[in-house]
Parts: sequence; C-alpha cells; structure tokens
Amino acid sequence: MSRVRIAPSPTGPLHIGTARTALYNFLHARHVGGTFILRLEDTDQARSTVEFEKDILDGLHWLGLDWDEGPEVAGEPARGPHAPYRQMERLPSYEAAAQRLLSLDLAYPCYCTPEELEADRKAQEAAKQPPRYVGRCARLTVEERLAQEADGRRGALRFRVGEGTVVFDDVIRGRIEIDVANLGGDFVIVRADGTPLYHFTVVVDDAAMEVTDVIRGEDHLSNTPKHILLFRALGHDVPRFAHLPLILNPDRTKMSKRKSQTAIDDYIAQGFIKEALVNYLALLGWSTGTEEEILSLDELIERFDITDVHKGGAVFDRERLEWLNGQWIRRLDPDDLIDRLRPFVEAEMVAGRIERLPTDEELRALLPVIQERLPTLGAVGDLVGFLWVGAVDVDPEILVPKRWDASTTREGLAAARQTIDAVGDVSFEADELEPPLRALAEERGWKAGDLFMAIRVAVTGRTATPPLFDTLVALGRERVLARIDHALEVLPA
Ligand code: GLU
Repeated sequence: MSRVRIAPSPTGPLHIGTARTALYNFLHARHVGGTFILRLEDTDQARSTVEFEKDILDGLHWLGLDWDEGPEVAGEPARGPHAPYRQMERLPSYEAAAQRLLSLDLAYPCYCTPEELEADRKAQEAAKQPPRYVGRCARLTVEERLAQEADGRRGALRFRVGEGTVVFDDVIRGRIEIDVANLGGDFVIVRADGTPLYHFTVVVDDAAMEVTDVIRGEDHLSNTPKHILLFRALGHDVPRFAHLPLILNPDRTKMSKRKSQTAIDDYIAQGFIKEALVNYLALLGWSTGTEEEILSLDELIERFDITDVHKGGAVFDRERLEWLNGQWIRRLDPDDLIDRLRPFVEAEMVAGRIERLPTDEELRALLPVIQERLPTLGAVGDLVGFLWVGAVDVDPEILVPKRWDASTTREGLAAARQTIDAVGDVSFEADELEPPLRALAEERGWKAGDLFMAIRVAVTGRTATPPLFDTLVALGRERVLARIDHALEVLPA
C-alpha cells in the first residue's frame, strides 16, 4: 500500500512548486489507491506562521487536492492514525530518536563553537577544499564530554556519516550513487538548543508515518543520501524516492519570485481557475505521451504514472497556462461561470472601474460573446466593463482609424449614427445592424473595418472588444447613440 506525503513548511504562501509536488503526490496516491498525507514542517519557528499555514491549506483545498491524513484547518488538530502532523507537536519523537542514535554511537555531541567552525571553513576555502566538518568532536571520550558539559556547554548532535557509497534507484532519475565523502562530513541533526533539524525530522516522520514513496522536488536530491543513512541508522525501511524536475523561468534559471509569479494566490486573484491550474501543473514535468493536453483532475488520476515524469527541467510558460485557462473557462456551465465571475466584477466596482454591478441575467446574456474570449476571469472588466459605466472616456487619438483622418471619422460616425438610429428599437439585433452598416461603408467607398473600428472605439473607448454588433446590442440603442454623439464632440475639429 503506497503512502505518500506533501510536507510544506509554513514559511511563505503556497508556491507553484509546492502545489505541483502536492498534485503529483495526490495523483500518485489516487492512481494507485494509496494514502496521501499532509504534514507541516514548522520547526523553523522564526519564519513559520499560522497565516502561511492557512494559505497553504486553503490553496491546496481550493485546487481540490484532498488529503487522507493531516490537518484540515490551519491551527487546528489533525486527523489520522499518526497525529499530530505538525512537527512542533512531535518533538518528543525526535528526542527519542536522537537518544537512540546517541546510545548506538551513531551520533555524538559536538561542542565546536561557531568561531571554530568558521575558522575551519576559512581554512578549507583557502586550501580550495569543499566545506566539511573536520570531526573535532567525533572521538571525544566520555570524560572529555563531561568536562565540556561541566563547563556549561550543551552539545549539538552530529550524525556519523561513516564511509562508503549510498546507492538508490530514483523512480524518475534512475540509479544514483553518491560517495558519502561528499556529504560535508558528519552533520548536525539537533542544535545545541535542542531544536531538531530538517534532515532529521523528515526521516523520523517519514518512518513514523510509514511513508513508502517520497515524491519531492529535485532540489532535495542532494539531501537524499543523508536521509537514507538516517533511515538505516534508525533501523527503518528506506522509502522509494522520486525527484521531480525543477520548474524553470523562461530563461531556464530556477523559478524564483523575482523573475516569475510564484504564489498560487496571485494566480487565483487574476482569475485562473482551479481546473486550469491543476491541468497546467500536471503538465509541468509530465505528459500523457499523446497530443492530449486538456485533462480534468479525474482524467489525470486515471492517466498519471509517476514513472512517466520527465527528468528535464519544466519551463513555466504563462501563455500556455492562459490558453488552458481559456479552454477551461469555455467548459464551465453558465451558472458556474457567473458565480465565478461575480467576485471579479465586484472587484472592478471596488476599484472604481465600473459604476454599477450587472445582474446575473445581464451576465448570462453576455456569455455567448465573452465565454470564449476570457483568458482569465479577471479579464472581464477589460473585455466588457464599458457596459457598466455611464459614459466612456474616448481618446481622440484612437478614435481616428489608422487610414482615416478626423474629418472622415466625423463623417463616418455621423452616417453610422443615422443608420443605427434607423434600425428600430424592437429589431435592435446583431443581424439587423450589420447589413445596413456594411452597405453604408460600401456606398461611401470606406473599408468596413475602418468604419467598424471608429464605431467600436466611439461606443466602448477601446480597440479590442467582443464582436461589434453583439457589443452594440449589449449596450442598447440609446446608449450607442449617446456615445456616438459624445465621440463626435471629442473629435478634433
Ligand atoms: N519541508 C520541506 C520543504 O518544504 C519538505 C521536503 C520534503 O518533501 O522532504 O521543502
């Protein structure tokens, strides 16, 4: 029975990389009928907060990645046979494991001062050697240790890495061999003040929680030999490891906050929908092996195979994400889309970009023209916000089409106004408007595109909108006429 986990540290908001790791663990667990655990690695007390914990749990819930064991709600106790699932509530188990390693002499107290360690590091640097612990405290006698303690020193606990090679078969990367001589010497597992460190807690917990497969980012690959040594020292089975490819910026550097947007919250705030984010994250390092790329969570569960994950770094491609988002927005049913658009329309109002809130019926009537044009829910204001304001600001610069001058524009708009006015209120429909306006362009020898652009800018204030005739219908006859009149006023003489 496969048991996998996501082990976020609540030291920042939910990151794209963590969300992808969570998704792959989730997909693997659901695909093989295993168990998905969430454990919070909160031992970095200075940086961990309940707010970040909430952000991470809420984000994962929002994506639809439900876990079988672990805390559901930030700050509240967790359910599951291995509770607690927050490391700060598990300190006694690290303490017990530390005692075990100490009594087996697989770990020892180290009294080196920061100054001594710094001097070692400098000497190694000068000798062009990689940094490593020199082993000053590795062979202290019991008397020497007691003397240190009598002087009031409390030792950090170092794990003996020993000698030899660690070999493991990574599910994604294949066979990996690392000489323990390259691990930087015996490493600290518990600080002098008693706080256990990551390498140690992760192993104690993975063992206690009977994790069978550790699926995590490639940035942890270099930690894995240390973890394997610790699993063995503690007498536990070593889990399988699967290291996921790094997520890269478009310039192929490691994805960072500075170069890319990394917080899931920011994507949610822009109106990326969960179906698209899940779909996109799944494809960041994995594919079906076919052309198929639009896959729901259920389809992903069915298709995902951890052994098919790619080795090479996965470049984050925002355009592809937007495309997928648009595809998923098209697939939403109308009521659902209206519900999801509502907060974005309200945000336009709060920001003062629109002057009134459309009703659900108004939104519903617009769906045929906007649903396939929204790359994100947040684009709704840009696309049709002009419908919910009294008047639009028209920039005379863009009002005059490229091939036209101001006087042709004046002539064109005035003629269009008459034509539109002649279409009756009752029959104010797209297919009633288009033929006479096309006929008008032809009669005057104008390119229809130029005339339509002038009308478009006059009534919406912008050059990109849903199809013109649908836009006119949505605005209604009176507003179209009034806006053309206003545009005629702002046109330069
Ligand atoms: N807390 C670690 C992190 O956030 C977990 C690493 C692991 O999965 O072992 O990267």
